[in-house]
Amino acid sequence: MSVFTTRFAPSPTGLLHRGHGFSALSAFSAARAAGGRFILRIEDIDTTRCRPGFETAILEDLAWLGLSWEHPVRRQSEHMADYLKALQTLCDQGLAYRCFRTRREVAMEMASAPHGQVQAFSGGALSPDDEAQRLDRGEPFAWRLSIEAARTRLGGFSDLTFLEEGAGLDGQNGWIAADPARTGDIILARKDVGVAYHLAVTVDDALQGMTNIIRGQDLFEATHIQRLLQALLGLPTPVYRHHPLLHGADGVRLAKRHNAESLQDLRTAGISPNTLRKDLGFD
Ligand code: GLU
Repeated sequence: MSVFTTRFAPSPTGLLHRGHGFSALSAFSAARAAGGRFILRIEDIDTTRCRPGFETAILEDLAWLGLSWEHPVRRQSEHMADYLKALQTLCDQGLAYRCFRTRREVAMEMASAPHGQVQAFSGGALSPDDEAQRLDRGEPFAWRLSIEAARTRLGGFSDLTFLEEGAGLDGQNGWIAADPARTGDIILARKDVGVAYHLAVTVDDALQGMTNIIRGQDLFEATHIQRLLQALLGLPTPVYRHHPLLHGADGVRLAKRHNAESLQDLRTAGISPNTLRKDLGFD
């Protein structure tokens, strides 16, 4: 039996708020209760939005909250070779294609889909000639996963399941049949930063030996595609626990982009870590 291993994996794109505190404490206390390992991973591949100052603040806030984690901390930006290797594995099996479309073009193609159809992008590769010309012109491209090629390769998705010990946003719990087609041909490697979230997170969770993923319900849907990537890359599937998201006094879900009150604000206001931990439901 592998040792219970879980993680908190923030992106340093802003200051942590109470919702992050709840998520980090959920993973940390589950690891402690199981006598297992707690890992902190910095998900900083999006160089257009991540800032070193936010990473420093994350480390400070988590230590203030009483958490400790294994060292060295894995910083995704330092492990591009691992993600490129996984991308190459998918390309070698004909499961990925170059996508030269702009965001606008993707949006237009999706908008022109027949009425009532699920809006999941699956544009497919260009003709070899068209692709060669664009490559010659040096046009930038992203790599997308072909859901249809993946379906063929696996002989359908009916064997793709995962165990949900918490709940999705609609209360999904227990053994869940993954339905990766709902997200369409996701981007594996962005034009600008050379990798994308689903691929990096799936590779890292396996490389770091995660047995249990504990994270917010907003990431429940992401599990469908991450389960598919695990199958295509021959990686193990952890057990998942998606926890409820915290809401502010106004009833709105806490989010960095809505400038939710940060842990730093709470510290400055003189709140003690013990008070905050109790407030979040932890002793
Ligand atoms: N880095 C992601 C975020 O900050 C979390 C990824 C995950 O837990 O799978 O939302």
